Amino acid sequence: MAVDTRTHTAHEQTLFDVAVEQFNIASDVIGLDDDMRRILSVCKRQFTVNFPVEMDDGSVQVFTGHRVHHNSGPGPTKGGIRYHPDVTVEEVKALAMWMTWKCAVVGLPYGGAKGGVTCNPKLMSQNELQNLTRRFTSEISGIIGPNRDIPAPDVNTNPQVMAWIMDTYSMHHGYSIPGVVTGKPLILGGSEGRSEATGRGTVFTIQEAAPKIGLDVTTSTCVVQGFGNAGSVAARLMWELGSKIVGVSDSTGGIQNPNGLDIPAVIAHKAKTGSVVGYPEAENCTNEQLLELECDVLIPAALEEVITGENAGRLRTKLIAEAANGPTTPEADRILFDRGIVVAPDILANAGGVTVSYFEWVQALQAFPWTEVEVNERLHRIMTRAFNAVYETSQRYNVHMRTAALALAIQRVADFTRVRGIYP
Ligand code: NAD
Repeated sequence: MAVDTRTHTAHEQTLFDVAVEQFNIASDVIGLDDDMRRILSVCKRQFTVNFPVEMDDGSVQVFTGHRVHHNSGPGPTKGGIRYHPDVTVEEVKALAMWMTWKCAVVGLPYGGAKGGVTCNPKLMSQNELQNLTRRFTSEISGIIGPNRDIPAPDVNTNPQVMAWIMDTYSMHHGYSIPGVVTGKPLILGGSEGRSEATGRGTVFTIQEAAPKIGLDVTTSTCVVQGFGNAGSVAARLMWELGSKIVGVSDSTGGIQNPNGLDIPAVIAHKAKTGSVVGYPEAENCTNEQLLELECDVLIPAALEEVITGENAGRLRTKLIAEAANGPTTPEADRILFDRGIVVAPDILANAGGVTVSYFEWVQALQAFPWTEVEVNERLHRIMTRAFNAVYETSQRYNVHMRTAALALAIQRVADFTRVRGIYP
């Protein structure tokens, strides 16, 4: 049975509807019963706050933020906090649900959560961002905590923002609590390898997927949409492996060069100018054109719903590795599957971030730091194991990798939900 959890009246499909549609497709594959579908297709808790922030000019603005816990069965909930003008509660709910599946795919003892504040951080000073972060942390402090719900960075939030969250939460309690967030600066107990973990995990996934489709990563061509934390690291690591990066983009537009871009030079250009556009040894293109460039590997690493029913038929790639969350719509998934394009889905391909966040949390609880080599080795082991489990599931049920990853994750979460039972 397909469970319809929509709370809005419009016919427009929200991102949460997309998440539920994917959930239903995978639940059909594993024959999940209706009771379990009712439990797992809704978010356990959604908390919305409106809060004032004093701006630099003395005026006061009121911002809206959300923290959503999808499922806390396996342990504390885990998920990033996003600052973006388009943040809505439906988006945050979808991202929280995907976090549950992501943690289950890689076998972490966490449930899923997500947070977001509707704001435009590009128009705010550091002082305003700090005020916003500290007040939002205060507002949600009752539902976060090292054993309850552990935020992390997401779009437009970074280690500095995590430091403000950790400090605010610690001030409330009167002592330092580094385990309340991950993605902290190294000096505050951040983990070695955390800032690169998402991109690194994506590249580990590509290395596992490539031989299955007869692709050699070292001679491949690659396009990366989004050049932030996830995208720029994935681009650099692919480039280091010998892949020719023929196009990259950010929110201001894209650049392409069929002979390959010098990624460290593009990173330096972006650091200097704030954008990849205008990099001298490339032609400019739009983000839409970028996605349709011919390449072996396409890495969407920006925002959701960029590969749709409209453009999926025109993509010229063999493998899509989703560093971003939710970049492909269900309609596009069907088109890509029919066209034989393999999609390494977000809950697998970008799980490196939450995996090293888990390592950081373990290190914080034990006050015992690991080396970067230890972090990367353990990450490699977990990503490889997860990829192969998902691949085997896709072969067993003859479904694409997204449905396989979801099926595996939903089965795991359903199993421990059943064993825990329903309280009271
Ligand atoms: P980020 O803010 O560091 O980078 C986002 C990048 O996308 C920037 O380069 C930005 O310019 C670009 N961008 C924004 N809008 C765009 C558009 N319309 N077209 C093209 N590019 C655009 O964020 P991030 O942390 O790298 O996150 C990127 C994606 O990866 C998100 O979907 C996020 O949920 C996902 N993700 C991130 C992590 C992590 O650890 N950072 C972990 C898992 C998943």
